[in-house]
Amino acid sequence: MAYSDPAQRNQVTVLRDGYSRQEDGDESAMRANCTCTLVRCRDGTNIIVDTMTAWDGEHLRSLLVQQGLGVDDIHVVVCSHGHSDHIGCNYLFQKARMHLVGACASHHDLYMDHLASGNPDEQLALDSNAEVVVRRSPGHTLSCVSVIVDNSQLGGRVGITGDLFERREDIDDENIWMEAGSENEKVQREERSKIAHLCEFIVPGHGPMFPVTSSMRCKLKEDAAYSSTI
Ligand SMILES: [Zn+2]
Repeated sequence: MAYSDPAQRNQVTVLRDGYSRQEDGDESAMRANCTCTLVRCRDGTNIIVDTMTAWDGEHLRSLLVQQGLGVDDIHVVVCSHGHSDHIGCNYLFQKARMHLVGACASHHDLYMDHLASGNPDEQLALDSNAEVVVRRSPGHTLSCVSVIVDNSQLGGRVGITGDLFERREDIDDENIWMEAGSENEKVQREERSKIAHLCEFIVPGHGPMFPVTSSMRCKLKEDAAYSSTI
């Protein structure tokens, strides 16, 4: 692994903004694809978070080439959860030392027991500086994880959260994340508030990255508190 330069920051790059919307002319169907993010850690570890659908392989290759990387330069694959639009191109990354799908970690046919302690705040460091970690963030699915990046080039902590947040607008309109599916709405509200208080920026599952404001934190805290009373 490359040497660590303390002057450097961990680089978070959103390769492609995700989306989700109702299909035109068919209220029963959705169009959706995930936000796909590259984290280049300052110790040289390259991480891809959420790999889009299985039909996006050539697109994802070209997005990486634009960053000066090939698929073999990715060391860790993290999928925030196991839905098909977040795991589709995992097959591209066969040189990676670990694929993490939700809280399930594997390499080839070997399955590791990371994030299995039962402690909800357990963190798995992905870089040698322990500045880029994975933690559980259940709600959308009970196995969901988020990647938390400290010491980022943005000057604040970044949470790459998958569908814990569908997109920025779901803070004002809860229907957006609830209609995207939640295996436990109460837990999801608590996690949304927790991550928003932990991070200055959020990369949601299906929209562009956004900065977290104090009014967002207040709203999410109120939502979580209200949720615990019903
Ligand atoms: Zn999704």
